[in-house]
Amino acid sequence: MNIEQIRKDFPILQEKVHGKPLVYFDNAATTHKPQVVIDAVSEVYQKYNSNIHRGVHHLSNVCTQAHENARIKVQQFINATHSHEIIFTRGTTESINLLASSFSDTFLKEGDEVLVSQLEHHSNIVPWQLLEKRKGIKLRYIPINERGELILDNIDELINSRTKLVSIAHISNALGTINPIKEIIEIAHSKDIPVLIDGAQSVQHLEVDVQELDCDFYVFSGHKLYAPTGIGVLYGKEAWLNIMEPYQGGGEMIKTVSFEGTTFNELPFKFEAGTPDFSGSVGLGAAIDYVLSIGLDNIAQYEHELLEYATEKLSAIPNIRFFGTAKEKTSVISFLIGDIHPFDMGTMLDKMGIAVRTGHHCAQPLMQYYNIPGTIRASFAIYNTKEEIDQLVNGIERVAQLFG
Ligand code: PMP
Repeated sequence: MNIEQIRKDFPILQEKVHGKPLVYFDNAATTHKPQVVIDAVSEVYQKYNSNIHRGVHHLSNVCTQAHENARIKVQQFINATHSHEIIFTRGTTESINLLASSFSDTFLKEGDEVLVSQLEHHSNIVPWQLLEKRKGIKLRYIPINERGELILDNIDELINSRTKLVSIAHISNALGTINPIKEIIEIAHSKDIPVLIDGAQSVQHLEVDVQELDCDFYVFSGHKLYAPTGIGVLYGKEAWLNIMEPYQGGGEMIKTVSFEGTTFNELPFKFEAGTPDFSGSVGLGAAIDYVLSIGLDNIAQYEHELLEYATEKLSAIPNIRFFGTAKEKTSVISFLIGDIHPFDMGTMLDKMGIAVRTGHHCAQPLMQYYNIPGTIRASFAIYNTKEEIDQLVNGIERVAQLFG
């Protein structure tokens, strides 16, 4: 991988922050966009912006084609069987809420259980808690150990006859742990229970093959995959999507409407009410092309190098405490330095042009497990370098000295 060339693809990396060159380590929150993605989005508005589907005029047809081509790119990217198994949403959060709503309308009743884990993002906790209130279901979770790995010892009790869905993050956003989802899917399927995988932190780091995983649903956001904000994906096996109730009602998702009743459109449109974000989908398609042109294997290998380098360098800092030391992890490092508050560390690093995330990372139950208010999190992407990691380490040492 030619990192210097890759860095040139991202115009924002030329920006200065507080007069210093930007060092951006907040990639788990969102990634920057390469010029090809920015160009693809602006081309939509410059050349063929038009509302899609059902249009008879030229621009509408061009725009529809571009949107549907993007769907096929997503299908191929995660190796779904059919392109109509790809539902465009606003992002992971909306995908999970869609599923929570439609799956529960169709399948859940009082006393049923949904199983998540202790390291989930709030967006894979709160939608199910809302169903606890609305439907009387029960949310349970797989516990973790000190290293931030799932403890599967009691999985047979946790996945039981009341369980109706298992919903697990592929990779933890706060710790970087790669969960053994294949094993969990196999156990759940041996009991005929479907599995949703939250892939918000995965598709940008490793190859995902939904057929090989055999998951029933897989969700992710475009903006963490170098694509624009506002576009995301819900993959679902055709058989599930066909029998599930729609989510939102409106245009696009219907076949016929009269005051006597409505019939719904076929997949994927049944779950896509309203004018879709076609500039977002086109941007997502361009981002997928970009990532594939570098190669996910190359990305995984390079980011692993960055992770190992950063772990080694950071380990030399006195009083550092790492959170999430799982054997299988991606390029996310969460830590605290002595009793320096993460907010203070983040604020002072920012003055040096270094962007890290501080706080609970939308994973408060995980922070409660460690009994901490939050961590400092550095998360790496394809454009980061070892020199930038040196700057981070140097910056942390300076802040630590200041705090005595
Ligand atoms: N799940 C995980 C694991 C995440 O990292 C995130 C984003 N931080 C989300 C869900 C929510 O994604 P979005 O805000 O893009 O909907």
